Amino acid sequence: MPATSGKSSAHAVWTKLGYKSSHELIAHFPRRYEDRSRWEDPFLCKLDQPVTVQGEVLAVKSTRWRGGRSVFEVILQPAGLLQELGLTWFNMPFMKNVFKEGDQVVLFGKISEGKNGRRMIHPEYEVIKQHDEPRIHLNRVTPVYPLVSGVYQKTVRTAIYAELFSEDFKVSEFYQAPDPYMSRLEAVRKIHFPDSMDELEPARKRLAHDELITMQTVMAVRRQRTVRQRKDRPAPVQDLVLKFLHHLGFEPTGAQHRVFSEIDRDLSRHYPMHRLIQGDVGSGKTIVAAYALVRCLESGKNGAMLAPTETLATQHAENLRKILAPLGIEVLLWTRTTKPVAGESLQSAGSIVYVGTHALIQESAVLENLGLGVIDEQHKFGVAQRHALMQKGQHPDLLVMTATPIPRTLCLTYYGDLDVSVLDEMPPGRKLVKTVLRAQSDLKKVWKFIRQESSHGRQAYVVYPLLEESEKLDVRSVQAAFSELKGVFGDDQVVMLHGKLESAEKQRRMQAFKQGKFSVMVATSVIEVGVDNPNATMMVIENAERFGLAQLHQLRGRVGRGPDQAYCVLVGEPKNEDAWKRLAVMEKTADGFEIAEADLQIRGPGDILGTEQSGFPLKIVNLVKDMDMIEPCRRLVQNILNEDPDLSHHPGLYKRIKPFIQEADFTWGG
Ligand code: ADP
Ligand code: MG
Repeated sequence: MPATSGKSSAHAVWTKLGYKSSHELIAHFPRRYEDRSRWEDPFLCKLDQPVTVQGEVLAVKSTRWRGGRSVFEVILQPAGLLQELGLTWFNMPFMKNVFKEGDQVVLFGKISEGKNGRRMIHPEYEVIKQHDEPRIHLNRVTPVYPLVSGVYQKTVRTAIYAELFSEDFKVSEFYQAPDPYMSRLEAVRKIHFPDSMDELEPARKRLAHDELITMQTVMAVRRQRTVRQRKDRPAPVQDLVLKFLHHLGFEPTGAQHRVFSEIDRDLSRHYPMHRLIQGDVGSGKTIVAAYALVRCLESGKNGAMLAPTETLATQHAENLRKILAPLGIEVLLWTRTTKPVAGESLQSAGSIVYVGTHALIQESAVLENLGLGVIDEQHKFGVAQRHALMQKGQHPDLLVMTATPIPRTLCLTYYGDLDVSVLDEMPPGRKLVKTVLRAQSDLKKVWKFIRQESSHGRQAYVVYPLLEESEKLDVRSVQAAFSELKGVFGDDQVVMLHGKLESAEKQRRMQAFKQGKFSVMVATSVIEVGVDNPNATMMVIENAERFGLAQLHQLRGRVGRGPDQAYCVLVGEPKNEDAWKRLAVMEKTADGFEIAEADLQIRGPGDILGTEQSGFPLKIVNLVKDMDMIEPCRRLVQNILNEDPDLSHHPGLYKRIKPFIQEADFTWGG
């Protein structure tokens, strides 16, 4: 195959895929591989797993049914076999333009068994043409790429092959990788075109190593930038902390005290605090935020607290007002509906704490004299919002809080640019929430139990999963449950909450529930975040198998906040083993970290916290398989930066991290 035509087609492909360079094209990794060096026998293979079959098209038939439905069938002669295999596609009439008698084709899919023998229904297909390069598409482990419309599998494959194996193709090492790893050039070639399936994992490992090094360098450099920001801290103008502790009404836990002093230590340094507070649901993070805000106001500055929903912001504003009003601190709620009118003066006599939603970080929002930004439920935000809040002041201190417990190693990966505090102690008097798994058919008994409990004045949540595909459907399923439960508990005993309600209406209903006007709240998972009603002791989660573990844990955390024994009933009929395992974990433990660890093991790969958390996409790293690489990579990055703090001897690495470092952070040597 002439290399030049390959090259120019490569150019066309990368533009079509939306890439700007051949290097971006090379980073378009296969989504799976087919071993086309040996073909499965479709008449002997197992039925329930996908196989790759090659053969010649003997006949095609297109049938139209009344009502516009159609079926397209192919009779295939699998290579080297005498039997014929049927292929079927329903309602895809354009398929008749794909296959012709005599075509050589490759198919990928499950074999099914019907009354006319074995066939493949809707397999993935590829027609091999005479001029197609056999070394690329056949007789080898063949990569299968994610596609965009208008680009063919073979075109992408040909383009990437041409690029990778052209004479002037170069990949540079951008740091010294340790010994067992193969060269980057070899790894890049093998991740696309391995000689055998066995070569894939070592190649992936090498590229994962590179990705981790890059990510951790981003984190370390962000961290370095923070430490280099000069911050003069004027002496406190008043003493509020003693008053604060006095008005709290309870004794902080040991963990809360420890985090208070970690914050104090941060605030004695001449650079901004950048701290993450990790604490399970109910561990008392709000007080820690309040403490930091009080410290900030002591030095004459204002503070801000960002929350993901209007409900939560309102609740925080109320709680903080209770705690801070006796200290003469004004709390101002700032959301889409309650934001101050433009031009209205926000100057107040004393100090202010702004509490708000995204409205708070919009460009137009001016937060006077900002000394500290707090972000609650950080996992609902991302690094971009964190940055936006920081921009509202001059190197303000930053406290981010999350209730998503993640294993320590992961924490270092995603939040390596922050100092981390852990609230690992619950306020006293918390009882374990008794958790049980029940089938749909047990619901009557569950309702009976709720009625019994509510006769003692206790309250229950009944939660339905939010299905992303159709919010309408959710609302309908919640509405159906609403009428049903009114029948069970009485018309005036049930209140409903879902995401489609006006925010003021949500507030009103939440408030009424908190005041004990209803015994049951039916809701979608909108209540997941931060709702606090110590009198609610029962959490019933319907279709529990549809929720992730972290979410179940969050939901369960909504109860067990008062003195009474609390219960969580997971209603579901798990259809596979993983779903069972998940729910069993919930029954067994209340420890958020243990649950997170189990979640990781069960759910396996994937960018656990998402790109938003770190601002860095993990494309190759598999945090389960690659866990043991994280620590060594971190040490390697430390060594690199110790010897070469501005990366002037690592131009390749510098170029890679640059897009992930905020402009403002970029004052080398500054
Ligand atoms: P989360 O960590 O989930 O944000 P909150 O800050 O909402 O937890 O605290 C949960 C509840 O525990 C609140 O009602 C709060 O007033 C209470 N609380 C927090 N710390 C203590 C403590 N040391 N002693 C008693 N109650 C506490
Ligand atoms: Mg909270």
